[in-house]
Amino acid sequence: MASQRTPEGSYPPDLTAAESENLVFTIKDWSIAHGLAVRPPPALVAAEADPHGVLATTAPVTLFPSPFPRVCFEQARSIQKAYNQLYAAIAQDEEFLGEIVQEILEVDEFIAELWQVHLKVKEEGYVQNLSLGLFRSDYMVHQGDTDAGPTIKQVEFNTIASSFGGLSAQTSNLHKHLSISDYPLLEKPILTSALDLPENTSTQSLAAGLRFAFDTYIKSGPSHDCCIIFLVQDPERNIFDQRHLEYELKQHTSPIPVFRLPFAQILSHTSIADTPKRQLLYHLPSNPSKTYEVAVVYFRAGYGPQDYPDASAWKARLQIERSNAIKCPTILTQLAGAKKVQQVLATPKAPSEPSILGRFMGTTSGLEDLENTFTNIFPLDDSPAGLEARKIAVDPERCKGYVLKPQREGGGNNIYRSAIPPFLKSLPETHWKSYILMEIITPPPVHNMILRNGVVEKGGVICELGIYGTCVWDGTTKQLLHNEGAGYLLRTKGDQSEEGGVAAGFGSMDSCRLV
Ligand code: ADP
Ligand code: MG
Ligand code: MG
Repeated sequence: MASQRTPEGSYPPDLTAAESENLVFTIKDWSIAHGLAVRPPPALVAAEADPHGVLATTAPVTLFPSPFPRVCFEQARSIQKAYNQLYAAIAQDEEFLGEIVQEILEVDEFIAELWQVHLKVKEEGYVQNLSLGLFRSDYMVHQGDTDAGPTIKQVEFNTIASSFGGLSAQTSNLHKHLSISDYPLLEKPILTSALDLPENTSTQSLAAGLRFAFDTYIKSGPSHDCCIIFLVQDPERNIFDQRHLEYELKQHTSPIPVFRLPFAQILSHTSIADTPKRQLLYHLPSNPSKTYEVAVVYFRAGYGPQDYPDASAWKARLQIERSNAIKCPTILTQLAGAKKVQQVLATPKAPSEPSILGRFMGTTSGLEDLENTFTNIFPLDDSPAGLEARKIAVDPERCKGYVLKPQREGGGNNIYRSAIPPFLKSLPETHWKSYILMEIITPPPVHNMILRNGVVEKGGVICELGIYGTCVWDGTTKQLLHNEGAGYLLRTKGDQSEEGGVAAGFGSMDSCRLV
């Protein structure tokens, strides 16, 4: 973070050492008391200090809610249902996804394996026509050259394991608490009335999406008690984020049984009923005589190659995909979230061609609201646009405005700016087409302080807004049965860091102060 003094009278205010210490004291305890927490990184806690894995630590968080343009926040929120509809439609367009997969299949083994699983189930016939999407569309603020004011540009659209909904609502609650308890007491006080903090329902809304899918499943007449499976990584540092959703589902007038199942244990604890319906059965490890029918499988794992170390992991994914459980997501929905799909949506084939969005939205009008959020993204294939982009990518000057992305999720996979040409040169040119080249979005400068591992970092920050959305669709009738916006996430990183992943240790949780 580039450390500078905050200009006089600006927000957030400069803090005295005693004020900073007091805020940190409040935040440390509030965070643990309310589950704004993560498991500690193993590097920070020696095994002998925590032999039974009981310790938790505060999630990195900003001391103040970052200022965020109200028009941008409203813009992002107002298009979420349209984005849900768009990606639900893409997930149902096997021909479109097939063409994209064909282009990268030979150089991207992971995408190829996913596609194979889909083809196997297709051959046998899918038994479940309902799909659940818990999506998150991520944006940064863009200040164009004109006086038109700030707008949002989309960083990416997530269709699998869209995380931080549980911690995000708690971060909004933390900043609300500080706005009542601590900020008015500062030497340069900030009054509660001066802070416009939008409501954030991410935990309840994401849980409501899961509940809708569950309720729809049980109407079909299951043969056992039903449950939702959270498919997880093990170990998982970001477990409390997931627990907040689980508790929301359990602490309800009609509680839903939820079980956490590590991805590596799918084959040992589930089976498929030997019936035409192929129900997915979950055998409780603590009591093998108890069997549940799985109504919904919620993936918080399985989005990257690290969860598929061997053939049995792919067998496990196939077992889920061919079962009658409602998947969040299906293979096709996961593929709809590929960066390559985002690039194809953003790159017109020819200036005269009608927008490809029309193919999915069933209309040719009113698509500008979505298109206005696109920034320039180029293929690196041998199309005319791709050949042009290749020139930019290997040019030591022009590459500085770009980020290179592979078809991966979860943070830490991108190549930035001057690192792009040497990276590409280290690859065979035949592999370049599995990457996309995207213009770097540079939001206007914002200042804040981040509390990370007990230490306050101060300086310029970059904010990324995520809007959650939930939807359920029927692939047979093509009907969207449920379509809702589902709260927001604000993640903030030091302006010297390219990546912003909270779990990866670069970013921090934040909330919006609308300005
Ligand atoms: P992932 O699926 O791994 O999260 P992203 O596309 O979100 O991949 O990229 C990871 C991070 O890189 C983002 O959170 C953001 O901080 C940064 N980033 C990605 N694309 C851009 C962009 N076009 N402009 C600025 N920063 C970007
Ligand atoms: Mg992603
Ligand atoms: Mg991302």
